[in-house]
Amino acid sequence: MQVDGAATASEIAQRLSVGLVVVGDGAVEWCNAAAQALVEAHGGSWTADGAPVRLLTGVPPGAVRRSVRWSPPAGGQRLWEVTRTPLTPPRVLFEVVELPAPVNGARPIGMAEPHWRLDRLEALARMGSWVWHVADGRLEWSEALLAMFGRPVGEVLDFDAFRALVHPDDLAMIDAAIAEGMTTGLPFTYTHRMVVGGAVERIFECHGEVFRGADGRPLRVLGTARDVTEEHRARTELAYLAEHDPLTGIANRRGITARLARCAADPAGATLLLLDVDHFKDVNDLRGHAVGDRVIRRVAETVAARLGAGALLGRLGGDELAAVLPGCDPAAGIALAERLCDAVAGEAVLVEGQSAVRVTVSVGVVAVECGDGVEASLARADLALYAAKDAGRNRARLFAPDQYRQAVARVGVLQRVGDALDEGTMELDAQPIVELATGHPGRSELLIRLRDGLAPVLGPAEFLPAAERTDLVLRLDRWVLARAVRTLAEPAARARDLRLEVNVSARSLEDDDLGAWVLAQLRERSVEPHRLGLEITETTAITNLDAAKRLVGQLTGAGCGFSLDDFGAGFGSFSHLKHLPFTAVKIAGEFVRHLDTDPVDRALVSAVVGVAQRLGMRTVAEQVDRPELVDVLRELGVDDGQGFHLGRPRPLDGLFG
Ligand code: GH3
Ligand code: MG
Repeated sequence: MQVDGAATASEIAQRLSVGLVVVGDGAVEWCNAAAQALVEAHGGSWTADGAPVRLLTGVPPGAVRRSVRWSPPAGGQRLWEVTRTPLTPPRVLFEVVELPAPVNGARPIGMAEPHWRLDRLEALARMGSWVWHVADGRLEWSEALLAMFGRPVGEVLDFDAFRALVHPDDLAMIDAAIAEGMTTGLPFTYTHRMVVGGAVERIFECHGEVFRGADGRPLRVLGTARDVTEEHRARTELAYLAEHDPLTGIANRRGITARLARCAADPAGATLLLLDVDHFKDVNDLRGHAVGDRVIRRVAETVAARLGAGALLGRLGGDELAAVLPGCDPAAGIALAERLCDAVAGEAVLVEGQSAVRVTVSVGVVAVECGDGVEASLARADLALYAAKDAGRNRARLFAPDQYRQAVARVGVLQRVGDALDEGTMELDAQPIVELATGHPGRSELLIRLRDGLAPVLGPAEFLPAAERTDLVLRLDRWVLARAVRTLAEPAARARDLRLEVNVSARSLEDDDLGAWVLAQLRERSVEPHRLGLEITETTAITNLDAAKRLVGQLTGAGCGFSLDDFGAGFGSFSHLKHLPFTAVKIAGEFVRHLDTDPVDRALVSAVVGVAQRLGMRTVAEQVDRPELVDVLRELGVDDGQGFHLGRPRPLDGLFG
C-alpha cells in the first residue's frame, strides 16, 4: 500500500539495478546503490579527482543513449551505456548500465578468430555460454558470461562458487531442471536470480542441452545464459499495474474479479464485502478532490489493516472498495463488516490547517458459493450495499433475495415516474392554505400525483423517495415549478391573484442553477415573484445549510415566498431559523393534531409563533383536520392553516373551473 510517495520512490531507486546519478553544476548530487557499486567495484568513486562524472556530463544533451569508456583506477576498461534525462535545471539524471566485457577492440594475440568472434557476439547480444564436462565436473564460462556475472575475466568459477552467487530459493529448481535434461536428453530451460557485483540482484534466463557419448552416458552439457532483468522488471511492473489501483496501491477491479473468479471455483467458497464511503461527494465538494483522495487512501488503509491473511482488498472505482474473504462464512463476514464500519467511523483524516475529516462507510455482504458468477456476486453485494445505505448508512447488510425484488420494484417505480413526465400523466393537486383570521385561501400548496392508470396506484410517499435517490427528482422539481409558473401566468389566475407553493427536494439544493432558473421562468411569463413560494423541509435545510441559505436568500431577496416545512419534526432548532431568511414557518402536523387537548403542544406552538413573529415570518399550521383546532390556533396567533377541515387537495387544472 502506498504510504508516502517520496519515501517509496527513493526506496525503489535504491533497489533498481540500473545505476542512477543526478549531476548538478558538474558535481554528483545523488546516486543510487547500483551506481555506487559500478565505480566502487573497480576502485573508483563518483566524487574523487578524475571521477567518471566527466564521462557522463560529456554525453551531449539530446543524446538518447550513448556508450562511453571508463578507465578505472584498478586498471582495464569498462564500457558503459549512458542515458541522459534533463531534470529541473541545472540538474541532469544519468542512467548508467555496464555493458559486458569491453575488450581492447582487437583480438588478443593467440586467440583463435572463431573463439574471439563468438566472445564478441555474445557480448553484443548480452548473452553468455557455459560448458560442463560431466566426467571431471569441470565448468567453462565464456568471457561474456563472466562479465555478466560481475567476475573478472579468466576466473575459475567452479560449480560451488557459482551456486554461492545464485539466490538460495532458486537452487533446487536449477538442479531439478538440469537433472531432468540429463535423464530425458531433452533441452531444458530455467530462470534464476543472482547477486552480481556483491550487491545487485539480476535475473538470468538459461537454456541447456545435454550431449551423450556412444554409450549413451552424458558427456557434456552446453548452456546459454541471458540477462533478462530489465525485461523481467518491465513485465512485472506491467502485471502489477494491470491489477493494481494507482491511488491506493491495493488491487483494482481486474484484480478483484480475478480473485472472485478463483473463489467461485473453490468448494470452500468466500464472502464478498462491498464498501462505499457515505456522502463522499460532500467531502470532494467541501474539501476538494485532493482531500477526497486522501480520504479514499485512509479508508483503504484502515480496512486493509483489519483483514485477515488470504483476504484481498481492492478499489472498484470512485469511493467503492471490495474485499474478498476466501473460506469466510457470511456470519463472520457481516461481523467483520460491522467492525470495519466502526473502525472507519472512529478514525479522522487530519488535514493541515483545516478541521479533521470524518467519514463513514456502508457495506454490502454476500456469500460467494462455488459456481456463482463474478458479475452476479458483485450485483448482489451492490443490492446489499443499497440496503445498508437505505437503512441509514454507516452499517452493514447481508444480501437477501428480497433486496432483488425491491430493486425490481424500485426500477419499475422510476420508470413509471419518468414515463409520466414524458407522457403528461403526472398531475398536480392544489390544497389551500387559509388565513385563519379571515378564512380567505391566500395561497395553495401544489401536491404531485401520478395518474398513469397503472396498478398499483402509487402515492407520492411511494414514488418520491425512490426518485429522490436519483437525478430524476431534479427533473420532477423543475417540472412542478414550471407548471406552477405557467398556471400563475394564466389570465384567470392573475385575475384571482392566485398564489402557489411548490415543494423542492433536498437534491434540488445541489442544483446550483435552480434559483436563477426559477427567476428566469417568472420573468419570461411576467409573473410577480411574490405569487410563487417554495417549501423545503426543516431536515433538508439543516443538513444542507449552506446550499439552503444560498437558495432561500436568492429567491426571497427577489420577492418570492419560501417556507420552512415540517418545522419541529426534525431538529426544531430556533437558532437555525434565525439564520435562514424564510418568509414562513409551517408547524409540523404532529404538534397541531392534539392542540386543543395537549398543553405541551400548545406551549410549543406558542413558542414557535413568538419567535417567528419576531423574525417577521408567517406561521402556518399543518394537518388542521377538525374545527376545534381553528379556534386554538387563532388564539395562539398562528396566521394560516392547512388541512382537510380547511380544504382538501383538488386538481390544479380544475381550480378555475
Ligand atoms: P453515498 O452515500 O450514496 O455513497 O453518496 P456519495 O456522495 O458517496 O455518492 P457516490 O458514492 O455515488 O459518489 C462517489 C463520488 O466519488 C463521485 C465522484 O465525484 C467521486 N470520485 C470518483 N472517483 C474519485 C477519485 O478518484 N477521487 C476523488 N476525490 N473523488 C472521486
Ligand atoms: Mg459513496
